[in-house]
Amino acid sequence: MRRAEDLEVRGRTVLVRADLNVPLDNGAIGDDGRIRASLPTIRDLLARGAAVIVCAHFGRPKGDDYAERAAGGPSLRPVAERLAELLGQPVTLAGDVAGESARVIAETMGAGEVALCENVRFEPAETSKDDEVRGELAARLAALADVYVGDGFGAMHRKHASVYDTPRLLPHAAGQLVLAEVAVLRQLTTSPARPYVVVLGGAKVSDKLAVIGNLVGTASSGPTTPRSASSGPTTPPKADRLLIAGGMAYTFLAAQGHRIGDSILQAEQLGQVTTVLADAAKAGVEVVLPVDHVVADRFAADAQPEVVPGPDIPDGKMGLDIGPATSELFARKLSDAKTVFWNGPPGVFEWPAFAAGTRAVAGAISAVTGLTVVGGGDSAAAVRQLNLPPDAFSHISTGGGASLEYLEGRELPGLAALGDET
Ligand code: ADP
Ligand code: MG
Repeated sequence: MRRAEDLEVRGRTVLVRADLNVPLDNGAIGDDGRIRASLPTIRDLLARGAAVIVCAHFGRPKGDDYAERAAGGPSLRPVAERLAELLGQPVTLAGDVAGESARVIAETMGAGEVALCENVRFEPAETSKDDEVRGELAARLAALADVYVGDGFGAMHRKHASVYDTPRLLPHAAGQLVLAEVAVLRQLTTSPARPYVVVLGGAKVSDKLAVIGNLVGTASSGPTTPRSASSGPTTPPKADRLLIAGGMAYTFLAAQGHRIGDSILQAEQLGQVTTVLADAAKAGVEVVLPVDHVVADRFAADAQPEVVPGPDIPDGKMGLDIGPATSELFARKLSDAKTVFWNGPPGVFEWPAFAAGTRAVAGAISAVTGLTVVGGGDSAAAVRQLNLPPDAFSHISTGGGASLEYLEGRELPGLAALGDET
């Protein structure tokens, strides 16, 4: 992949596709990690005499057409304000994505100046399945600039107009964030130092079954769109150990015949989970499930937490965190790891009464000497909420879905468009 740092950009206008999709809490920006992660590329381009126009998506605008979506929001305005604060210079927010307002701003902006297009998902064409529909938007975006830089790693797994189609229309290169993310993920998928331990949590097993299948070597779960040979193996290496927690653990426990009370269950996944467990056993991948739980009688921040000292959960109770014995067991299973990938919080960490398991797992991973990678929006937010030192992990990925699809060995459309094969 060509590096943005190697592009001659003096006096040129550069369109940077960034991932600025940060959580909003009552209109205020919560964790601004993704905005911060986009700064190095923008700063470098500005310092080298470019005018920078940033394009990004934000939340999930609803509506059939542009007008409805733009009226309903969310607007990128709070993000533009935070970006300006962090950069220490004004950021002009266009009144549209790639319409008259963006065009006039792009034409009149000078070297060292920054502008931001409105939420690219106001344009229904951004996510269209129709190549021509996306192509029309891509042409309008490309007309704003002389050069394209892809730096929105969290959106790289999307075949969207601003990610996949626009780079084809301009000289293009990958930004620093994308290059850093790919360098780390490549280490995980080429020859990870062993033991390679993967910790998976989060709400739903369905989100992560494909990657689990790959990590335990399930034959049928091979990549649907394999990456080209030069950009990493198409069959990613198996993990030595898989520690499963969070909401998804209950479907695994149920598949083993345990009682799970009112915990979240994806009954339609039971068959596949059973297959995965059998494949893991065959491949010699150790799967470790919770041996105790923190439960409550309702899904609420102020619910009374209670430790259940075995794998079975009584009726009327739901598991909201792993218990203390599981935290210890996981710490032991992590203690000799040389490579760790962690995706998905092991409990409902947003509520203090159910955050102990996430804290324990984060602590155990940060004690590992070796490559430790955290992926997933909520996992990254959990790490920041826990106030661990910034060097507690080797790498905190800004991409949840994108990092999982990379680990599955699938080709990410955004990387392919930037020339991942070269
Ligand atoms: P990531 O964004 O890191 O990939 P996910 O989106 O898969 O993670 O899952 C994060 C969510 O999973 C968190 O909001 C957390 O509250 C939830 N979660 C974790 N454990 C449980 C549980 N036992 N029951 C319900 N939800 C859970
Ligand atoms: Mg999430």
